[in-house]
Amino acid sequence: MGRHDGTGRVNCGRCEKCLRTAGGLLLAGIDPTVVGLPIQPDA
Ligand SMILES: [Zn+2]
Repeated sequence: MGRHDGTGRVNCGRCEKCLRTAGGLLLAGIDPTVVGLPIQPDA
């Protein structure tokens, strides 16, 4: 399960929500890691 606080400021980088957000950032030309969204896909 994802790990998020009440404000959504904490991103686990693993759940569908985070991955979808990261995908949107990548499409916008933004590296998710630089905006506090580290991607940690399951190996
Ligand atoms: Zn998450």
